[in-house]
Amino acid sequence: RQAAYAEMRDVEPFTRCGTRITVMINAGLRDDMSMLAMTGADGVGLFRTEFQFLVSATLPQRERQTRLYRDVLEAAGDKPVVFRTVDIGGDKAVPYLVNEEIEREENPALGWRALRLALDREGLLKAQARALLEAAAGRTLNVMFPMVSEPWEFDAAKAVFEDQLAYLKARRKLLPEAIRYGAMLEVPALAEVLEQMVPRLSFLSVGTNDLTQFLFAADRADPRLAERYDWLSPAILRFLKRVTNGLAGQSVDLGVCGEMGGRRLEALALLGIGFRRFSITPASVGPIKELIRKVDLAEITEAMQAWLANPPANMRTEMTLWAERHGI
Ligand code: PEP
Ligand code: MG
Repeated sequence: RQAAYAEMRDVEPFTRCGTRITVMINAGLRDDMSMLAMTGADGVGLFRTEFQFLVSATLPQRERQTRLYRDVLEAAGDKPVVFRTVDIGGDKAVPYLVNEEIEREENPALGWRALRLALDREGLLKAQARALLEAAAGRTLNVMFPMVSEPWEFDAAKAVFEDQLAYLKARRKLLPEAIRYGAMLEVPALAEVLEQMVPRLSFLSVGTNDLTQFLFAADRADPRLAERYDWLSPAILRFLKRVTNGLAGQSVDLGVCGEMGGRRLEALALLGIGFRRFSITPASVGPIKELIRKVDLAEITEAMQAWLANPPANMRTEMTLWAERHGI
């Protein structure tokens, strides 16, 4: 595996037709940052800040959070890092937050989690906002909110950051050079109000793990369902196509950060749908770069258009044959 990393590390992910695709990694621990150099990825497209909360027996103090975020940014050097605010609650329950409310939930994936919990426990989000703002002093801070379901949730979360920013400003602290706010698209309802989100967003990142669980109403953690629905289904692909259409020509950086982007045929489909930014598990960076270099975007875009207009009986089979025919 080391050899595979090394071979593709310095290869830039240009498509056969000459378009530079952005390939970043998903991370969550200090130690993951070594993967940036090892894979030659363009940055961290998803830093799951909840890892620190999950491995801790008590709520991580703000100073500890600041230290982690600072270390992560230092390790990233000039490369960007997108910090996702805590995605805990639901099935990612942490001992110090477990209470009756969480334990009683029948559908934790649909429950009081992620941004929903963070907005209700404002102290938690405040501390995290301050930690991120302080850690990113003098740099660009990329903040991403998980599980945004309606625009006001995004606004409320951003307001917490802006309050903390004002606090630091009043105390003449060194501030981030710029703050870019983004959201994850993982709740289908958000896609229906995309035009309301556009003016609010610097970037939008599709979380296909949760998005597909919600589209198919299929628990992502249930092994009996793991193989039942295919990411290469017309329902998912058409949904994603509407998203790329909706953001075409807009100033929002659109990417995908779910596991779907790390699989070869799925990545090919995403390229055909219009995605140009991927954040994936480090082990997938080499294989996905290799794939990208074989792709002609006009060809796969045209093929995808035809498949979505008139879905084949089995999309995966069809795409496998197509990929073979095109030397991919
Ligand atoms: C997702 O839902 O696709 C995602 C990237 O976030 P997580 O897997 O952490 O829920
Ligand atoms: Mg998710």
